[in-house]
Amino acid sequence: MSKIIAAAGIRGAHTIVDRVEADLKRAIDKFGPNQEVAFPNTAYYLPIIYGILGDKIEKLSDMEPVIAKCKTLLPPMVKEKNHLPYLAPALDAGMASLFAQEMSEGIRYVEDPDFYVQGEDPEEGKIWLGAADDVILRKRGVEFVDGTAPGFAAIVGAAPTSAIASKLALEIQEKNLYCFMAASHDGKTFSEQLVEEGVQIGWPTRLVSFGPDISAAVFAIGFATRAAMSFGGIEAGDFRKILIYNKDRCYAFVMALGTVTEEWYATALGCVNYGFPVIADTPIPEVLPTGICTYEHVVSNIPYDTMVQKAVEVRGLKVEVAKVDIPLSYGPAFEGERVRGADIYLECGGGKSDMCEYVETKEMDDVEDGKITVVGPDISDIQKDPSPYLGKKGYPILPLAIHVEVAGRKMESDYEPILERQVHHLLNYCQFIMHIGQRDIAWLRVSKNAVDKGFTFGTIGTILHAMLHKDFGAIFDKVQITLYTEQKKVEELVAKARAAYKERDSRVENMTDETTDTYYSCTLCQSFAPNHVCVVSPERTGLCGSYNWLDCKASNEINPTGPNQPVEKGEVIDERLGQWKGVNDFVSEASRGNITHYNFYSIMNQPMTTCGCCECIAAVLPMCNGLMTVNRDYTGMTPCGMKFSTLAGTAGGGLSTPGFVGHSKYNIIQRKYLIAEGGLLRMVWMPKMLKEEMADLLKARAEELGDPDLIDKIADETVGVTEDEILPFLQEKGHPALTMESII
Ligand code: SF4
Ligand code: ZN
Repeated sequence: MSKIIAAAGIRGAHTIVDRVEADLKRAIDKFGPNQEVAFPNTAYYLPIIYGILGDKIEKLSDMEPVIAKCKTLLPPMVKEKNHLPYLAPALDAGMASLFAQEMSEGIRYVEDPDFYVQGEDPEEGKIWLGAADDVILRKRGVEFVDGTAPGFAAIVGAAPTSAIASKLALEIQEKNLYCFMAASHDGKTFSEQLVEEGVQIGWPTRLVSFGPDISAAVFAIGFATRAAMSFGGIEAGDFRKILIYNKDRCYAFVMALGTVTEEWYATALGCVNYGFPVIADTPIPEVLPTGICTYEHVVSNIPYDTMVQKAVEVRGLKVEVAKVDIPLSYGPAFEGERVRGADIYLECGGGKSDMCEYVETKEMDDVEDGKITVVGPDISDIQKDPSPYLGKKGYPILPLAIHVEVAGRKMESDYEPILERQVHHLLNYCQFIMHIGQRDIAWLRVSKNAVDKGFTFGTIGTILHAMLHKDFGAIFDKVQITLYTEQKKVEELVAKARAAYKERDSRVENMTDETTDTYYSCTLCQSFAPNHVCVVSPERTGLCGSYNWLDCKASNEINPTGPNQPVEKGEVIDERLGQWKGVNDFVSEASRGNITHYNFYSIMNQPMTTCGCCECIAAVLPMCNGLMTVNRDYTGMTPCGMKFSTLAGTAGGGLSTPGFVGHSKYNIIQRKYLIAEGGLLRMVWMPKMLKEEMADLLKARAEELGDPDLIDKIADETVGVTEDEILPFLQEKGHPALTMESII
């Protein structure tokens, strides 16, 4: 350890601890010792203190013993003529600084509760995000675990210019790392520099503006500490394991931009405890390999154009970057980026034009690998003359059909939906592109930046060709992609694709839950809804509509350790409600004990959990003694008093909410659909568009139920959007729900 760094860091630690002690005294004088103190929505208290010391800080007075501990950790200042080794005392000083700064941020939450924005995105005029809550930790933390994010760069200070800042940030994103930002240099922060450059900051783009002070670095270290407890299953207080977990598993490093103050040194020493090295742009003394970090501890005077690369090397991180030959940056860090308002260059689908994505199996001779064809206008045509394409909002709207034709000895049509489902994230990984949905409800937005960089519709083909080969090369040999942007051609493919979707859905139609012993889980959505576990049976397709039982089975064959696992349903607990012991055990484990059981066939009695991407949400209408359901595309009011978006917000976070349940469109006509409450015969309201879309299937099911006119008895928005408005209609039509036993 360099004597200069140790000395400066120890001085900084003394300053920090003294200041926080005074802050605490002031806060206690003002708010009283019993004032509650917490970071928002977390079960980990102040996580560094909780993880390393095992102490729960719940009120201000709980901080007093921690201050005392900090003081015992603080070594005496390094004297000029001291030849003792500095490493251990310097590391202790670093730890004390982290504890103290975490308390200081805790006190800030008491004194100035609105200082930080709560949530994933900055708000107008407020860019500091503060501590990540447990929802964010769960959602983002899994990326650290599954490797889509190998670690983070903790940036302190600011770059000399905002252009350099945005270049560094892009390079960090391209390496799939998160960028955690704190502190300022020369009155500027790195976060502000990115905003100046028009870069989208926030959790979705992995550019996280924690706070303007060096103390905000504790939010990064706290995140790492919680990840060790939450994903590594390490007990609070087991500091050795927490530090080792991070050294071994979290590829983080500190990039110090600007004058390194004593307090920065103190904080950096804290980071070295976690095995996170420091890379500086200024000529501070270096600390070369000894002990804690994998390689060097402090490397200095690094020029900006090699800084990220150097950091990655020093941290010992091997970054695997997908090689896709397109003119835009590509990788998971760009998945959450949005394209809105004035940034939009053009839009396809999303209800404004026809759009579909369709993967089809072909004979080997019918597919030319890597062939990408655009049929219809491309970006260059729009650039020449946008007028024929302009929509109401003033930018071009085009129809789009993405036809992916695959061939291979191992390819089976059962795998088509699995490949098709990839299109969503594969396109989202492309910088400046936003994609939502799948099948014939897909939606694509292309930003002006994308077009400036050279995006064309062919880019979509290049991405799909490269990435499908990379991830699914095991099951096919060749793939060609055709992009249709001509209305007539798009309509043709949409019709063909719809027939295929229907055929896929009906392939499982003749199977029953009773005669099937193995169901399949789907935990794909856990990254968003941490407790959410779909269990897919033949008679209950996944609520997003993209996974039926066969899809899950095929996906499991392709990727045996992936999100679709076989679930032996085991002993029947309740046949009417649809509950099995094997399923309960699985759900319990997969939700980490948060959900111990649920029912497949009931809305009132512990229904299955719902996540935000369900196609429809059903709700109880007590006055009508019935059920309603609403699909995502219907944006109007519904008789339960909520629109789809509100319903999704209420029931969609991976919860089991009696009275509400998410389901796929197709599920409505499956025989077990909410059968515990009487099934489709209870349905009193559906949007007109949904009735029309499913007309044939609904009619067939109604006949099977012995009420062939049922569909005409179901109200829609043309009848009314309140229970009062629809009840007379139901009475007039003699709806069966009115004479059924009470639903509540
Ligand atoms: Fe899987 Fe369910 Fe999410 Fe669909 S909604 S992707 S089935 S977890
Ligand atoms: Zn989902």
